[in-house]
Amino acid sequence: MTQIFLSPPWVDADERQALLDAFDSNWIAPVGPNLAEFEKAGAVATGTAHGVALTSGTAALHLALDVLGIGPGDEVVVSDLTFAASAFAVVHAGAYPSFVDADRSTWCIDPELLEEHLLLRTNAGHRPKAIVSVDLYGQCADYDAIRATAKRWEIPVIQDAAESLGATHRDKPAGAQGDLSCLSFNGNKIVTTSGGGMLVGDDGALIDRARHLATQARQPVEHYEHDDIGYNYRLSNLLAALGEAQLRRLPAKLRARAAIHTRYREGLDGLEGIDFMPVADYGVPNHWLTVITIDPAVFGADRTQVSAVLREADIESRPAWKPMHLQPVFASNPLTGGLVGERIYEHGLCLPSGDLLDEADQDRIIALIAAQAGSHPTGIDL
Ligand SMILES: *Cc1c(COP(=O)(O)O)cnc(C)c1O
Repeated sequence: MTQIFLSPPWVDADERQALLDAFDSNWIAPVGPNLAEFEKAGAVATGTAHGVALTSGTAALHLALDVLGIGPGDEVVVSDLTFAASAFAVVHAGAYPSFVDADRSTWCIDPELLEEHLLLRTNAGHRPKAIVSVDLYGQCADYDAIRATAKRWEIPVIQDAAESLGATHRDKPAGAQGDLSCLSFNGNKIVTTSGGGMLVGDDGALIDRARHLATQARQPVEHYEHDDIGYNYRLSNLLAALGEAQLRRLPAKLRARAAIHTRYREGLDGLEGIDFMPVADYGVPNHWLTVITIDPAVFGADRTQVSAVLREADIESRPAWKPMHLQPVFASNPLTGGLVGERIYEHGLCLPSGDLLDEADQDRIIALIAAQAGSHPTGIDL
């Protein structure tokens, strides 16, 4: 039996052909016609007006902060429960992150704690300059509340939509909720260019400025003139071609991941002590990853034990993201809350969710998990 990964890419003849066509066109550079087409498609997929294709989601976050004028000494609020890149980008911009805990009903940033945090930090003399709000595991954050708070405080919202491409919030696609939004096309994301990202938004001037900075801040003259510190962040035209083909596959990918999610629910929902990441009523997630929590006192085994059993069967599963405030590198950054994220990390397990996971393999995963019920009632560590 072959190894089962968490979220392997699904590429096919279409992607191969798109890549070869771009290759044969000789636009083998971070410039070319596929970039403009991919950006147009990215903007459409996120319900925004403009996009700039970049080398990574992290680069998109960095440029978002940069074009919004975030710099040295500035504080930026970031979701505590996320992948570290959300916070790293803030440091790349010369600023520093402060963290707000997840909401137990969405696992995304808690809007009430956000409000409290902004007040606390402002009273302490460190009024934050922006919010990086992460759409966790493919579910949009609560943008009605987050946007209202951001408006009151007159600070921009950068939507980290690296995991949520294809999800919706109200009637709009994920990516339309931030002042600027960031996508990732890393190999494990729902749409991949092997590595890549995109910054999208409605403000054409901001996106143009990001494009300028992403291409070494080159002035449009022949003699290599620069009016700014730029970056080498532009995506290759070859990968843009790959991305176009992947985006055309997005509807099929969403259907596949939703079906996998439903099958996990049907297979595991009856098990005492196992719960699923809650689905908020304001939108539809893309089900990038299906994530469960395992309460060892009720289930009779903890997530480490379940994960070890899966690993022995060559099946990859991963703990939920480790909150930023538990990361040694951010141990002394300001934080409001933190216990919700800690619990999710302690008990959360991400299950294989790749588009091509077949039903027999998934049933095997479900059976292996179910068989662990009551297997370690005293909570002995393996
Ligand atoms: C993947 C990811 C990123 C970083 O994207 P890269 O393309 O890998 O740089 C940022 N934020 C979140 C929440 C992610 O999951």
